[in-house]
Amino acid sequence: MRTETYNVKGMHCASCSSVIEKTLKKVDGVASVEVNYGTEKAKVSFDETKTEVELFSKRVEPLGYALEVSSVKDMMVRVDDGRVDHTGHMKSKKEKQNEIARLRSKVLSAIPLAVISIFIMGWDILAEYSKVPAMAYTVKEFFHHLLPIMATYALFVVGTPYLLGLYRFLRYGKANMDTLIGIGTVTAFLYSFAVSAFEDALKPFINVDYTYYDVTIVVITFIALGKYLEAKSKLKTGDAIEKLLNLQAKTALVVRDGKEQEIAIHEVVHGDLIVIKPGARIPVDGVITESSSFIDESIISGESMPVEKNVGDTVVAGTMNTTKSFIFKATKIGAETVLAHIIKMVEDAQGSRAPIQALADKISAVFVPVVLVLAFLDLGAWLFFGIPSLGFSAALSYGLTSFVGILVIACPCALGLATPTAIIVGVGKGAKEGILIKDAATLEKLHKVTTIVLDKTGTLTKGKPELTGFHNVSTLPDGKVISLLATLESKSEHPIAHAILEYAKMKGERNLVLSDFEILKGKGVKGFIEDTLYFAGSVALMKDLGLSYDVQTIESETLKGKTPILLASKNSVIAMVLVSDPVKSEAKVAVEQLHKQGISVIMLTGDHKNTAVSIAREVGITEVIAEVLPEDKLQKIKELQKEGKIVAMVGDGVNDAPALAQADVSIAMGTGVDVAIEAAGITLLYGDISKLVKAVRLSKFTMRGIKQNLFWAFFYNVVGIPLAGGALFPLWGLLLSPVFAGLAMAFSSVSVVGNSLRLKTKKA
Ligand code: ADP
Ligand code: MG
Repeated sequence: MRTETYNVKGMHCASCSSVIEKTLKKVDGVASVEVNYGTEKAKVSFDETKTEVELFSKRVEPLGYALEVSSVKDMMVRVDDGRVDHTGHMKSKKEKQNEIARLRSKVLSAIPLAVISIFIMGWDILAEYSKVPAMAYTVKEFFHHLLPIMATYALFVVGTPYLLGLYRFLRYGKANMDTLIGIGTVTAFLYSFAVSAFEDALKPFINVDYTYYDVTIVVITFIALGKYLEAKSKLKTGDAIEKLLNLQAKTALVVRDGKEQEIAIHEVVHGDLIVIKPGARIPVDGVITESSSFIDESIISGESMPVEKNVGDTVVAGTMNTTKSFIFKATKIGAETVLAHIIKMVEDAQGSRAPIQALADKISAVFVPVVLVLAFLDLGAWLFFGIPSLGFSAALSYGLTSFVGILVIACPCALGLATPTAIIVGVGKGAKEGILIKDAATLEKLHKVTTIVLDKTGTLTKGKPELTGFHNVSTLPDGKVISLLATLESKSEHPIAHAILEYAKMKGERNLVLSDFEILKGKGVKGFIEDTLYFAGSVALMKDLGLSYDVQTIESETLKGKTPILLASKNSVIAMVLVSDPVKSEAKVAVEQLHKQGISVIMLTGDHKNTAVSIAREVGITEVIAEVLPEDKLQKIKELQKEGKIVAMVGDGVNDAPALAQADVSIAMGTGVDVAIEAAGITLLYGDISKLVKAVRLSKFTMRGIKQNLFWAFFYNVVGIPLAGGALFPLWGLLLSPVFAGLAMAFSSVSVVGNSLRLKTKKA
């Protein structure tokens, strides 16, 4: 099974996505298809042995669409005349811009025609109420001949997509929004043309003074204008990826054979030594081997202060060198870089579907056929009920007006744009702030979260504890005790272990030989040194071992926020060290702001109760769950969920992965610029806890935007269809002109995309 993402060309409307989905699903071997109108991308999972990629595009081509392979990964390594072609994206953007330019010239050519039509219409109406003198005969005749010509231009030049939509409907039985507009405008045109052509013959039956050329012209112009504005703003919603792509340097200055030479980015290989001058962008990921500098990583972290990097530190592609020249060794290139991962993640997330969209999708899938049926039923009803009371001519005229009006106003366009455009903006905005969101569903769920559970170490604290106290309670010399402890911790990845090793290094103590090492999860470590079994770990571990320890010192130190680690043999405690892990400076404000948003914040930790409470007090958390084993963290999350809480868990992913997986929303703290802990729904780059608040806010206003969009999209259709159908006619003689239907339709899509764009300016 293979899954590919394609760019889709030729989509005009949300109903297009369901047409493409249905068509591709019928291909033998295709397991699933997801087409997104917002991003104009199709995700297809298929069995390679049964079908092939080339087939997909062929299937949808007759319907007016084309599929094109699109993958950022490909883009970043594929080569094009010596330059790296991460520009597949740019290319498709260029095409879109050309398309928009074409649309623009069409719209511009149609607007004067629409203005003239509206002018004539207005004059006629005003004259009917004797507000202005009726048109002089010659003037009337002039317009009488001008209108069919203008309508012909509007329909056959500006309105080609709608004609094609009609053609495809007749030929393949597939209808989309273009089909609706096509049927509506062609009906109006043909009726009018028949009246003009057979004026004398038809005179006895209908009012031949009345034609619909103006409707054809104005509707097509308005809809084309709407499409143009929509396409223009849609392009703007997706510029976050483009900004990221622009961070990719095109060349790199490498040292080869002792000489510096500039090569194209795709020629860089692992292990290349790359020279970076001040002001230059780092082209690939790597490790500094010579000199040091300050690097501005704001672009992917949102952190504005340049960070000092020395030999051995990692640098990532896309970030900017500021002060000094340095050399680094390339470790990750092309699609392996952090930047490529971020881009891929943003792209995937923007293309994913939010659960809230399900209803809109269902509706737009059945909308077109339902509307077609409705329009015909409505025409029938006008004739059936109208002829006896209004007479044939008037009933037909009203019926046709309604028929065209319904077809025009019913397009589910805005419905299809409502969710994806807001998601694109939300996810893109997140990426800019160093908040990587895995998919739309995560972004949606986050706004409902009532409880946020924070891991202590590495989330609220810096995760870089320091050893602050050493109490030897044995007869062994201090040096020996330190080296025993350091030896035990040498195989542990725990931050506490680092602190101890650091201390031993400072004291100049060497490690001994360790065997049968074992991690006692959430409690400590054990292992044999010189044939003796030693333990290092928490107070709880000492209790398990049945050893006694200095209760008083532990009580007083833990209350100060220090974590006690005890070294023991099977028989007695040998020493106690104290480590302290300072809280992140931004933690307190972050907790405060979460509280302000009405979210309850809970600290979860394996650490000593007193230590936990002390740290919690420092950051303003009142609910603390301490001394839990890693596997019990999961249980705690489950309990909270049972109480009906929607829980987000924030952790570093080191030993809280199961708890993260259980939470409704999992949020991982990225350390450094490590990207995207795969399992997490959201990754906060640089472990910046203040981004948590931003993420919640982002989710809230994105969802609010989506709901507003959906409301407006539904509102237009729900109100528009009965109005256009003449539901109010029997009561007040009110009937929505197709001209206003066209205007409303254009306005609905534009307002929805505009509302999504507005989210961009919101402060997260
Ligand atoms: P947290 O919830 O803060 O991530 P852990 O579950 O990782 O905490 O660890 C809980 C406790 O277990 C620590 O506070 C410490 O007392 C003890 N511990 C864990 N790993 C080690 C280790 N490598 N050395 C000593 N003690 C450890
Ligand atoms: Mg932890």
